[in-house]
Amino acid sequence: MKKKILLIDDSKTQLSTLKIFFTREGFEVETATDGISGYKKIFETAPDIIVSDIMMPNLNGYQFCRLTKDNYLTQSIPFVLLTVLDQKIDKFWSKKSGADVFMLKSGDFEKMLDTVKALLEKNPISEELKEKIKNHNSNENIIQEELNQILDDALMQASVLNEFRLLASHLENDNQMAKNLFELLSSILDFDAALLMFDSSSTSKKLIYSSGCPTTNSDILNNIVLRNIAPIFNLNSEFDFEIISTDVSETKEINDNIFQNSYIHRIKYFDEIIGVICFYNKQANTFRNQKFFDLLLKEIDLLVTIQTLYNQNKLLSLTDSLTGLFNRRYLLDMLEREYSRARRYGSNFSAALIDLDFFKKINDEHGHLAGDFVLREITDYIRKSLRKSDVVFRYGGEEIFAILPETTRENAVIPFERIRKHIENHEFIYDGKPIKTTISVGITDTLQKSDSIENFIEHADKAMYQAKQLGRNRIEMYNE
Ligand code: GH3
Ligand code: MG
Ligand code: MG
Repeated sequence: MKKKILLIDDSKTQLSTLKIFFTREGFEVETATDGISGYKKIFETAPDIIVSDIMMPNLNGYQFCRLTKDNYLTQSIPFVLLTVLDQKIDKFWSKKSGADVFMLKSGDFEKMLDTVKALLEKNPISEELKEKIKNHNSNENIIQEELNQILDDALMQASVLNEFRLLASHLENDNQMAKNLFELLSSILDFDAALLMFDSSSTSKKLIYSSGCPTTNSDILNNIVLRNIAPIFNLNSEFDFEIISTDVSETKEINDNIFQNSYIHRIKYFDEIIGVICFYNKQANTFRNQKFFDLLLKEIDLLVTIQTLYNQNKLLSLTDSLTGLFNRRYLLDMLEREYSRARRYGSNFSAALIDLDFFKKINDEHGHLAGDFVLREITDYIRKSLRKSDVVFRYGGEEIFAILPETTRENAVIPFERIRKHIENHEFIYDGKPIKTTISVGITDTLQKSDSIENFIEHADKAMYQAKQLGRNRIEMYNE
């Protein structure tokens, strides 16, 4: 049976030359002179292959091809785009339009014939499909509608991508980023509530950002998190995370089971899950059916990945490479925030300054590497012994600083007394040899009168110095 080829070109001479050539080669030839009539011809004639020019009035070759490839009935018909254009950007667009082959209008008909034959062999169109194509109603209005839809979608996609690009300029603030993301999403997607978690910068508690969830009844919200997010990140209880609302106004109560429909999306970077976003709806309409849902998920993946890498990088610049503790710069950063917060809300936290006793001697007797080893062992132990919410810093050479939130200096003494005793009794084995050492600790809290961060640190320093004075291997509290 003869194969049917549909040729589209606005140049009459070009068109008739091609028609003569393909007729002589045994094809049944149909022709059209622009994209719109070409698209209509597809439904009138159900061709086996389409060969089209690019530069044409009304609907150009790219658009015509896009239209054909977007229609599930016609998308499998092989499409060849012919052009005199040979710029890189032309090739880019023809690829984007979905064309199977992009050929230069070189007049090399034999090459064109080979290409056409190869495509026909690879993608035969069944008689059944041809029947369906012919039965499809396709008048000018429908074509215009389809085309508008494609253009609309393309424009909307471009706008969505642009909005996401703008979001990526708020990386320095996790909270703001989450807020902006929810704002953008709620203008595109239908959802009643959402949760977002990703590797955020500072705290040891996992921060979960919420949208459309009430801040008042946290039990229900905690349960949702425990069900949907906790298993993914090994969070054991509600003490392992904190939910931060990004809503501007208070949201109404929710009761359990109010959400008929949920969608939980894990955000991956290579093989590692770095975040999760959950959407909830009171109505049982599925998220997957929503327009652009997949595109949005992809963009969320990208944004959260960038945010996570940014945070990790920031963290690296705030930690000390020998001990893995936060560095002094970050301590001052954190004190800046916490100190003024304590002043404002009358909350209290303790600070402990820990200094190793006669550390110089360890270096002198066992070598600097042994000193490094002991310092690392001690900092690891201190970190492990304190609460998750406590933060430990390397303040100076062999000086360690710890912040204990919501703790009075009397209560802070308790864990440090345990730590002091443990170190006193411990033998650090380096290179087969035992090393013994002790620590002196100075402790203060924000209930003691101080007028600046420097002053506050000075208090811890004074107490530590006093511990040294009183014979080392002991803990002293600062007294006003
Ligand atoms: P004390 O605090 O009990 O008064 O005596 P000390 O010997 O610990 O005090 P000093 O401040 O005089 O000396 C601290 C020593 O700690 C000096 C330095 O050699 C050593 N040190 C500081 N940072 C490091 C480090 O990162 N690695 C090693 N191995 N030693 C360090
Ligand atoms: Mg020392
Ligand atoms: Mg020292």
